[in-house]
Amino acid sequence: TTPILEVKGLRKLFRLKKGWFQQPHYVHALNGIDVSVYEGETLGIVGESGCGKSTLGKCILRLLEPVQGEIRFQGNEIGKMNKNEMRAVRRNMQMVFQNAFETLNPKLTIGHILTEPLISHGIPREQRQALLEETIEIVGMSKQHLSRYPHEFSGGQRQRIGIARALILRPKLIIADEPVSALDVSIQSQILNLLQDLQEQFSLTYIFISHDLSVVEHIADKVAVMYLGEIIEYAEKEKLFGRPLHPYTQALLSAKPVTDPDDTREQIVLSGDLPSPSNPPVGCKFHPRCRSSMEICKVELPKLCEIEGQKVACHLYQSYPAIDPS
Ligand code: SF4
Ligand code: MG
Repeated sequence: TTPILEVKGLRKLFRLKKGWFQQPHYVHALNGIDVSVYEGETLGIVGESGCGKSTLGKCILRLLEPVQGEIRFQGNEIGKMNKNEMRAVRRNMQMVFQNAFETLNPKLTIGHILTEPLISHGIPREQRQALLEETIEIVGMSKQHLSRYPHEFSGGQRQRIGIARALILRPKLIIADEPVSALDVSIQSQILNLLQDLQEQFSLTYIFISHDLSVVEHIADKVAVMYLGEIIEYAEKEKLFGRPLHPYTQALLSAKPVTDPDDTREQIVLSGDLPSPSNPPVGCKFHPRCRSSMEICKVELPKLCEIEGQKVACHLYQSYPAIDPS
């Protein structure tokens, strides 16, 4: 099967505005990302804030323009599409944001908010009301809510409205960027269960971006771990959580709260903060914080290599076959 979404060699730079007397300075927000997502699966993307995971989501939707790389959606390269072609694709690719409240216009009713995408995608008037009512009920709310305003709802309900807005055009792919991070734990699981039900009902594919490993472990099929603009490990969830290979992934997992009393994992404390993305370390970007760091790590960027289906970019594993990025 071919992936529904294929990303190759994606790069994104942000220009930092410093003093006029200085050379322009660039941040490599994405430094050559390769990733594929298959229909009906959930790819979790994890990493600390500032690692580039939100930028990746926005570049895939072309809310941000990458400087290099290929994005294929359902086999079509979307990087070269014009506005009209892109509009047709957007119908099938939607985004759910962390803070639903900020993205819901406070002056509009829920019905109005949900109607906007229907109008901009040319859904005929006579079909709109049925879609509105069906969709608000699908996310666990009711028709009566359509005439109310965003401030009248709780955080969990607002996120349901955000999901309804993403779902109303019946997309194929939803990119959810920290969709439950602003919610209480009890509400989090309700929203995660809702997302899982919707995935089954509408054969949705998800890219689920989160800094929270427990959430990703709950919902993802495959997991990509990002560090300073690069994917440093990528595997099926069971493999990655069962046997993390990259020292960074190992440290992240060891910091996860232990729920199983038989779990005697050693806690690995990450030394130092995430380096500034505008001035990343040479070689392996993780080397200043890595307890397995070797001389080669300070000079050479490790290539992604594959070990029994698990992909990892670390010099500890360079005797395994490298992955040809093409
Ligand atoms: Fe640590 Fe070296 Fe592997 Fe980087 S490449 S994670 S510094 S062992
Ligand atoms: Mg983010």
